[in-house]
Amino acid sequence: MIMARLIDGARLAEQVRAAVAAETASLRATGVTAGLAVVLIGENPASQIYVRSKVRQCKAAGIASYEHRLPATTTEDELLALIAQLNADEAVDGVLVQLPLPPHIDSDRVLDAIDPLKDVDGFHPVNVGRLSIGSGGLIPCTPLGCMMLLDTVVENYRGMKAVVIGKSNIVGKPVAMLLLERECTVTVTHIATRNLPEIVRTADILVVAAGSPGLVRGDWVKPGAVIIDVGINRISTPDGSRIVGDVAFEEMAHAGAVTPVPGGVGPMTIACLLQNTVQAARRRRSLPRAA
Ligand code: NAD
Repeated sequence: MIMARLIDGARLAEQVRAAVAAETASLRATGVTAGLAVVLIGENPASQIYVRSKVRQCKAAGIASYEHRLPATTTEDELLALIAQLNADEAVDGVLVQLPLPPHIDSDRVLDAIDPLKDVDGFHPVNVGRLSIGSGGLIPCTPLGCMMLLDTVVENYRGMKAVVIGKSNIVGKPVAMLLLERECTVTVTHIATRNLPEIVRTADILVVAAGSPGLVRGDWVKPGAVIIDVGINRISTPDGSRIVGDVAFEEMAHAGAVTPVPGGVGPMTIACLLQNTVQAARRRRSLPRAA
């Protein structure tokens, strides 16, 4: 049996974090401490875990983190006032508002209020626009991580057929733009796509971000294809539960390379957030990237 190559996200994330730590050290030598403000509204348990992890990894990489935990009753105006304050704060290079927000707050208004130069999540319309014209804004962390993982196994993207499953603003659409920028021929598919298996079978590169456990079966995948599985799904097992991706991993032996879940895209997302924060710190001060 041919075994697909495993794309090790945990190892690559470690390398990215080490590079960020080297950059923050070189910034500190010029008197600059990169800083990330993380805003969390309410008590969503998953959000609390993400925020804790982001803050811990910031510290380890030499980035100052400023946590703002506000009650679920916080009004939109109060949140907008905090964002204005963080936009104006010289010590803050990145502003991240943890999603989802409580239903009484309009997420679009909040994301639009973040200074695009500090928008380390890459969700501001200015950065979305920059991504679509390929002109160097801040790129959303998960798609950026997907591309870095692909770069470890793909030498030349030009002319490759890429299929993306999922059209969300945070993963599917931005990853499609990044693949297009590399001159892949990109097809974006979604819940209403007809003949999905047939389209997936054409893919040299497949990025799956559907949130549907085991959606992509072995016979959907062309031998040698490279697969990035973004999905994070908790499923019940006889012993409790476990996390699985959107790809039936055990059926992918004939693929060229595949990311595991967990240990693939997941670890890259926060590593890319750290990288974006350092990039924002340099760009805001017009400092060149460290050699
Ligand atoms: P979303 O719900 O916003 O979007 C899902 C997309 O998949 C939609 O466009 C929908 O049309 C499509 N889709 C759903 N079921 C489908 C099906 N059966 N066939 C074809 N298309 C289908 O989700 P999202 O925020 O983009 O996240 C997708 C998955 O990626 C989730 O499992 C999420 O947990 C995971 N995720 C992981 C990371 C990470 O750091 N690894 C980051 C973000 C999201």
